[in-house]
Amino acid sequence: MFSRTLRLFFWMGVAAIAGYWLQPNSGHLLGAFFVCLLTVIKDLWKGQKITQWLRHNNVQEPPQMDGIWGDLIDRMRRILNEQRKQTQNEEQKLQDFLLAIQASPNGVVLLDPEGRIEWCNQTAALHLGMDAKRDLMQHVVHLVRDPVFKKYYSNESHDAEAMIDGRSVSLQKSVKLSVQLHSYGENRQLLLTRDVTTIAQADAMRRDFVANVSHEIRTPLTVLSGFIETLQTLNLNKDEQEKYLDLMSVQASRMQDLVNDLLMLSQLDGSTLPSINEPVSLQSLMSSIESEARGLSAAQLFENEAPQMMRFETPEGVQLSGANKELHSAVSNLVNNAVRYTPSGGLITSSWNLLPDQRIQFSVTDTGSGIASEHLPRLTERFYRVDRSRSRESGGTGLGLAIVKHVMQRHGGELKIESEIGKGSKFTLIFPASRVLQSTLSQFEEAVVSV
Ligand code: ADP
Repeated sequence: MFSRTLRLFFWMGVAAIAGYWLQPNSGHLLGAFFVCLLTVIKDLWKGQKITQWLRHNNVQEPPQMDGIWGDLIDRMRRILNEQRKQTQNEEQKLQDFLLAIQASPNGVVLLDPEGRIEWCNQTAALHLGMDAKRDLMQHVVHLVRDPVFKKYYSNESHDAEAMIDGRSVSLQKSVKLSVQLHSYGENRQLLLTRDVTTIAQADAMRRDFVANVSHEIRTPLTVLSGFIETLQTLNLNKDEQEKYLDLMSVQASRMQDLVNDLLMLSQLDGSTLPSINEPVSLQSLMSSIESEARGLSAAQLFENEAPQMMRFETPEGVQLSGANKELHSAVSNLVNNAVRYTPSGGLITSSWNLLPDQRIQFSVTDTGSGIASEHLPRLTERFYRVDRSRSRESGGTGLGLAIVKHVMQRHGGELKIESEIGKGSKFTLIFPASRVLQSTLSQFEEAVVSV
């Protein structure tokens, strides 16, 4: 700065002397003025160049100048560089933040104070049937036309969430959405959407289950209380009393069976998976199931009826690893069903086989009434019955096959059902090879079947 001033004075002096030499009256003033004017024009030109450089925002190619202008350009360049880096960093952070919101399984929509969509992630766009780019700055109520949402949006308080119909991310099916508005910033709002279909389904299943259980318990309870009232009010003879007590005992054991099955299901739901090292002998498992089945078969036989024929084939010495109680429940449910749904004189066969891939298979075949194909996919649902009265008459709870399926899932196996109306049914349990104790495999007969 100092040298620049000195230089200016020097040139003003030189110009004044030259002016005086040319015109002694006022030449020195004109000379000095001329130098000042030149300096101002030169500075204006440099200022113009710097403005142009700043306007084009080309920080990396500044105009080449020396002296005070050079210093100025250098400082400006450094400040601009720092600002650019800061802006880039902030943009990067914003991008990362938006990417994180994009990755969210929940939908996020940012609304301006007028309720127009400023930004939304892909999940929200799919849930609400919007286009994340095209629909920007559209009013949200014009796009989400569900009347429930319109009413919710116009409410003053948005403390609770609202349930509306939406679309799944895969666009395959309609889903139940939970939507909630949250205020932020200056009158802006954040709209969150969440797919709650599975929660809603689980809730509906829970409600159905409680309703079914109450209904199943109420029926024998009503019958029982009716009998108790009869016994209390009527003067019955011994035979009549015994008859009523027998009927009461049937209802009581029905309730007991139902409670036992419910307890079994809740144990299956809540307990740890069956161990892989606990051996269960097929022989002892099947001998108790066989005597149970023969007892049941005899109990349901009316006078003069031909008894059911039963064949049990169990290899000696083979052991399966799993939970004894669960395996007993699964296998006995299938065998007892075969007994209950096969008329007198029918044939029930059960056998264990080793499959070529070392899995082990249990199957029970009957010559009973069979099941129509439309019922097969639903048989393992809790309380699903093909013939309600037949099931109840024969002491069914409607939970047997649900238990079987659950047990098989816990043992890593599967349940297969084949049936034909009028011919009979075949229920098969397939256990993974890891559940067969390898040391006992040789006990299987050579007969190897294919699935
Ligand atoms: P339930 O206690 O009613 O027998 P399950 O869950 O064991 O309940 O079976 C569901 C339904 O499947 C039964 O109500 C019955 O209609 C049908 N079912 C099961 N096993 C057989 C079978 N062996 N033969 C014919 N129908 C069967």
